[in-house]
Amino acid sequence: MTGHMTPEEFRRYGRQVVDWIADYQEKVESYPVLSQARPGDVLAGLPAHPPERGEGFEAVLADLDRVVLPGITHWQHPGFFAYFPANASGPAILGDLLSAGLGVQGMLWATSPACTELETRVLDWLAELLDLPARFRSGGAGGGVIQDSASGAALVAVLAALHRADGGASGRDGINRRHTLYISSQTHSSMEKAARVAGIGAGNVRVVDTDPGTLAMDPARLEAMLAADAAAGALPVLVCATVGTTSTTAVDPVAAIGEVCRRHGVWLHVDAAYAGVAAVCPELRWVNDGLDGHVDSYSTNPHKWLLTNFDCNAFWVADREPLVGALSILPEYLRNRATTSGEVIDYRDWQISLGRRFRALKLWSVIRWYGAEGLREHVRTGVRLAGGLAEEIAADPGFELLPHHPFGLVCFRPRWEGLPDVEADAATMRLMERLNASGDLYLTHTKVGGRVLLRMAIGAPATGDAHVAAAWERIRAEAAAEG
Ligand SMILES: *Cc1c(COP(=O)(O)O)cnc(C)c1O
Repeated sequence: MTGHMTPEEFRRYGRQVVDWIADYQEKVESYPVLSQARPGDVLAGLPAHPPERGEGFEAVLADLDRVVLPGITHWQHPGFFAYFPANASGPAILGDLLSAGLGVQGMLWATSPACTELETRVLDWLAELLDLPARFRSGGAGGGVIQDSASGAALVAVLAALHRADGGASGRDGINRRHTLYISSQTHSSMEKAARVAGIGAGNVRVVDTDPGTLAMDPARLEAMLAADAAAGALPVLVCATVGTTSTTAVDPVAAIGEVCRRHGVWLHVDAAYAGVAAVCPELRWVNDGLDGHVDSYSTNPHKWLLTNFDCNAFWVADREPLVGALSILPEYLRNRATTSGEVIDYRDWQISLGRRFRALKLWSVIRWYGAEGLREHVRTGVRLAGGLAEEIAADPGFELLPHHPFGLVCFRPRWEGLPDVEADAATMRLMERLNASGDLYLTHTKVGGRVLLRMAIGAPATGDAHVAAAWERIRAEAAAEG
């Protein structure tokens, strides 16, 4: 029998694991970016039954190489350009390891004061680094919290907005009149999911028109819909504006939308999951335009572009009252003096689940390791590489470029001269599949105005000029072969 791992054994295996990760970082480029595994391959490599007798940890490490790695898509590969980046970094990995090592559950201030107070401080730090309005800092009525994801933040925002809109009635009695929520066709799907989960219903999610050129939400259309819905007896709950949409990084006019929301007394949530962290750079602070107006909640993901391993969403509210009102329940077994004193934050009241990990450690490690300077440098590298690629694409007569690319995402397609749209789109998809099968790079696609575009999202810490140049060379060559 293998008993509990002793500190001595932990030291030995821990060094092996850290070495394994360092080796992985050194050779990540040698793997095919997109896993070549077929459905069931990984399953077939795993025993159907758990072991009766404990094994040495070497056995786990051996299977990691044999079974797990072939089924890994390498998000930290310098040729990973799919979706958005999910940055990992040394300090974030070590911060997460420390969190696991401490093994605390930070549901209440009292269950580990440091887990709460470090999180409060780090979210204030991040608000300062991004130059967010003072309302979002913990010193006043608002404050920040780490959520698992932007999707979790969206749900929490909807629940807080619901609470404010009907004074807690639906939380108590259930929703018994029509509530509405406003998005655009470019809003992330997590908002519709939040509406479903919150009981508002997907059918009451109203889709506001966007400008066909900029794909930004039209505030005049929003105002008209809000007025018409309210006149018809609905209770508008929340509007979601996006800064940096998932499809093309389009930017909604937050200031104008905020004015509409103010007039109608509706909660405005700003989803800046990918692009919000760009505000670490003064030259990109325009992403905050409008946040100093009527904005009730704001969310961005350090786990995308800001070097912090998943999961780490930063979520701020201008007023914590409706949030805590919506989510606080105090059963007898959680009663404690600190909570009843009202002097402390209990973050369980700011999220869906009760329990919570000590995620602030990894964000704290990242901010201290890189400093504001290092974070800016990372974002600037992504923006510079994307800008350079966009210039190459624009200069190539065989390709068409989506002109909007202020961050790390570039959208484009081959022109496929002479092909009807449907066939051209099919050719673009075939091109993407061939590129992704090559193992050298990984791209995804989107549709704008019904037409397929390739998305190349630059921002992995390992990606440099040579990787982007090689990817572009490859794309041109494969497109020429296809065309
Ligand atoms: C990626 C993304 C999300 C979802 O992020 P998760 O943290 O994975 O839930 C939401 N909104 C936008 C705009 C995104 O780009």
